[in-house]
Amino acid sequence: MMEHTTSEPREKTFTCQLCDLSSPFTYYGQKPPNTRAIVLLEESFVTKDPFSPDKEKFLVLGSSCSLCNMRVCVGSDCSLFYTKRFCMQCVNKHLDQFPQQIQAELAKKKQSAKDAVS
Ligand SMILES: [Zn+2]
Ligand SMILES: [Zn+2]
Repeated sequence: MMEHTTSEPREKTFTCQLCDLSSPFTYYGQKPPNTRAIVLLEESFVTKDPFSPDKEKFLVLGSSCSLCNMRVCVGSDCSLFYTKRFCMQCVNKHLDQFPQQIQAELAKKKQSAKDAVS
């Protein structure tokens, strides 16, 4: 029996499970096609840059959390890249295991978010 796994009729969509950002992606992995020497640090959801005529330009939409596998966008409210991708839920759960510098940066961000609300 022949299997046809190469043609995927549905448009592939990346959805951030934290902020609900949703965007079609053209590639998932570490080496986007049509790029010469780009290897990403992590397996990422990638789409061609719609604002650039340059074929090699692409945007990284997001990735999967290395701990819980949740799909998260690269926005700083949703995920953090520290040797691996972590979603903010896992970051907060394991905050004490991140280096002081990262903890301080996150605390600063939380503070400024609070300031913006008040
Ligand atoms: Zn997000
Ligand atoms: Zn996670």
